[in-house]
Amino acid sequence: MSDISRPNGPKIIAVANQKGGVGKTTTAINLAAALVKNGCRVLVVDLDPQGNASTGLGIETESRGYTTYDLILGDADIHEVIQTTEFENLWISPATVDLSSADIEMVSNEKRSFLLHDALRQHAIDDFNFDFILIDCPPSLSLLTVNAMVAAESVLVPLQSEFFALEGLSQLMLTVREVRQTANSKLRIEGVVLTMYDQRNNLSRQVEQDARDNLGDLVFKTVIPRNVRISEAPSFALPVLDYDPMSKGSLAYQALAKEVIAKKGR
Ligand code: ADP
Ligand code: MG
Repeated sequence: MSDISRPNGPKIIAVANQKGGVGKTTTAINLAAALVKNGCRVLVVDLDPQGNASTGLGIETESRGYTTYDLILGDADIHEVIQTTEFENLWISPATVDLSSADIEMVSNEKRSFLLHDALRQHAIDDFNFDFILIDCPPSLSLLTVNAMVAAESVLVPLQSEFFALEGLSQLMLTVREVRQTANSKLRIEGVVLTMYDQRNNLSRQVEQDARDNLGDLVFKTVIPRNVRISEAPSFALPVLDYDPMSKGSLAYQALAKEVIAKKGR
C-alpha cells in the first residue's frame, strides 16, 4: 500500500468541479484518448453515478458488470472491475447508478475518505502498468469527490467560460485545502482548463483574463473551444479524437495532453 516503494506508479488526476455541465466528463474522456495517442496507458475511473464517462467510451449499462462502486467498497477484485474499451491502451472502471448510494454506505466506515485511495494502490493494479489514471468526479463536493482528491496526486479543474465560473472555484479550492490538511498533504492543482470557450464572445475572453490574472500559471495555456464535434462524439460512443481527428476540439485536447505529459516529468 505504500507509495514510496512504487515511485513509477501511475499519475492519478482527479477531474473535478462541483458544478455540473462544465466539461468534466468530456475532459476526462478526451484527455484520456489524447494521452493514449501519445503512447500512454490510461485508466478512466468513472466516479459519477450518471456513468457518462462509461457511456461515452462505449460501455453499455448491461455490460458494466462490476463497477467503481464495488471497487470502492472492496466487493470486487481490480481485475474484475477494470474493463478494456474498444480503444487500445484505454481502460475504464465503469459506474452505474449504484454509486449514488456509496456516499451513505461509506459514511460509517472509519477509512471513508481513503477507500478509493486504497483501492487504487492494490498491487494488482501494477499488472496494467498505467501511466495515468483520470478520475471523472460527480458534480458535487461529496465524499466521492473527497475520495478522488485523497487518491489523487493532483486535481484538474475544467472551468466553463461563463459568468460566476470563478466563484465556484473558490469553494473547490477550499475543499482541496481541507483535503491537504487532513488526508493528502501532497495534493496539487494540475491546472485549470477553460472549456466551451468562444473566441468571439466577450464573456469568454473576460473569464479567461480573470482566470489568468488570479491563477497565473495554474491555468493551462490550452483552452478548449466550444465545438459541436465534441458534443456529438459521445452519441457515437467515441472520443472526439476518433470521431473527428482534425476538429478544433480534437486538436485542443491533444494540446492539453501535451501540457499534462510535460508536467508529469516534473
Ligand atoms: P460535466 O461532466 O462537468 O457535467 P460534460 O462533460 O458532461 O460536463 O459536458 C456537459 C455538456 O456539454 C455535454 O453535453 C457535452 O457534450 C457538452 N460539452 C462539453 N464540452 C464541450 C465543448 N468544448 N464544446 C461543445 N460542447 C461541449
Ligand atoms: Mg460528468
